[in-house]
Amino acid sequence: MKSIYDLKYEDMEQMVVDHGWKKYRGKQIFQWLYRKRVDHYEDMTDVSKDMHAILQDEYRMEPLKVLNRQISKDGTRKYLFELADGSSVETVLMVYHYGMSVCVTSQVGCNMGCKFCASGLLKKQRDLAAGEMVQQILMVQKDLDADNERISHVVVMGTGEPFDNYDNVMDFCRIINHDLGLGIGARHITISTCGLVPKIRRFADEHTQFNLAISLHAPTNELRDELMPVNHAYPLEELMDALRYYADENNRRLSFEYILLKGKNDSFEHARQLAKLCKGFDVFVNLIPYNQVDEHGFKTVDIKSAMAFYDSLMKLNVKATLRQEHGADIDAACGQLRAKYERGKTH
Ligand code: SAH
Repeated sequence: MKSIYDLKYEDMEQMVVDHGWKKYRGKQIFQWLYRKRVDHYEDMTDVSKDMHAILQDEYRMEPLKVLNRQISKDGTRKYLFELADGSSVETVLMVYHYGMSVCVTSQVGCNMGCKFCASGLLKKQRDLAAGEMVQQILMVQKDLDADNERISHVVVMGTGEPFDNYDNVMDFCRIINHDLGLGIGARHITISTCGLVPKIRRFADEHTQFNLAISLHAPTNELRDELMPVNHAYPLEELMDALRYYADENNRRLSFEYILLKGKNDSFEHARQLAKLCKGFDVFVNLIPYNQVDEHGFKTVDIKSAMAFYDSLMKLNVKATLRQEHGADIDAACGQLRAKYERGKTH
């Protein structure tokens, strides 16, 4: 059965019209879901009982099951949700000075196979539906409603490759962005990709206001081949060409994600090569302290080397930030909570 959360605003209007109901009913239902955030059709008090019954028969609406919730000293909240088919997904809320940001999962598992990542330990089982991503946001927002807090930012950086689930991810972004619903600003929504070139070009052609982040992590083909198998399919030259196209088509700043891996990609020479790639782009580099994954053997850089790398970029005129770590006291590292849970199930 389809979920009511799969419907974009226009789909909702179409759905009610298809039922022979007035178009404004679509707006009412959308607002009940995302403004008033009710949990049951019966709570939509200006929608008739007959309509409740029909919607109930045709569209699932039940909330995700919370398998686990951890709250860190720094305010980070980590959720493990269970989907209707029993799959589990991780969602993380991070508290920043500029607002509250939620990191959303886009697939159950991931096939990109990046060598340093915990998510890829579990192969992709399926794509998430748009509504399953919407519900991650909604579950967290309902949790925050108790404190009168609001999600201001969303990053599609949880488990999965968003551009390997392109249509659903775009629908998801449009649903949470809609100003009659959650109204999360397009410029506050970031999609992160490991570099699926054809999808970057498609995204460029759509001219959205959503932000694009590229998981770069290595400034040469040699090193990127070693860390990220996707680089065999789309090597750096092709990736940079697609990004040039994106930049030409969209007047938007790009982000490069760059995990600092001790002794791997953190030398001055790497900084110099990275700066060369950034030349001519309006790009911001996010340096990410590596969250160590036991199974992989890569090591986190110490803070001194991280600062040195950051300083090198500054000197080379590259705009960069050194991302602070969140929720270090809980299982906050990308995919670790889920990996632990799934492992536990088999024992
Ligand atoms: N597949 C997409 C989005 C999910 S990964 C992508 O590759 O961008 C989101 C980000 O977290 C990526 O930049 C990824 O490389 C990074 N990441 C993965 N494992 C990490 C770890 N253990 N520590 C820090 N960052 C990690």
